[in-house]
Amino acid sequence: MDQMTQLCRELKDKLSEYLDGDLESALCAEIERHLQGCDNCRVMVDTLNKTITLYRNYGQVSVPPDTHGRLTRVLRLEMLKNQPARADDNSHPPGGRDQ
Ligand SMILES: [Zn+2]
Repeated sequence: MDQMTQLCRELKDKLSEYLDGDLESALCAEIERHLQGCDNCRVMVDTLNKTITLYRNYGQVSVPPDTHGRLTRVLRLEMLKNQPARADDNSHPPGGRDQ
């Protein structure tokens, strides 16, 4: 069952700290344990991780909004590719905000 739990929400708040390595190790362990059982959060971490990597590859230059939009789209596609196909996943259509 991929439901947003309290821990999911907490994790979302602390995700950037987690990826930056700013969290205490006890909390990191907790997050990692949660990730093993939660597809939602795993995808979230993975996506953010890729985003950060991409931004780092771009260096410290500011990314124009258009590029940012394209990046997001590419990331979303990557995400979809990495997701196992789900027959019954029509509650959250991917890319639903794009017309
Ligand atoms: Zn979760």
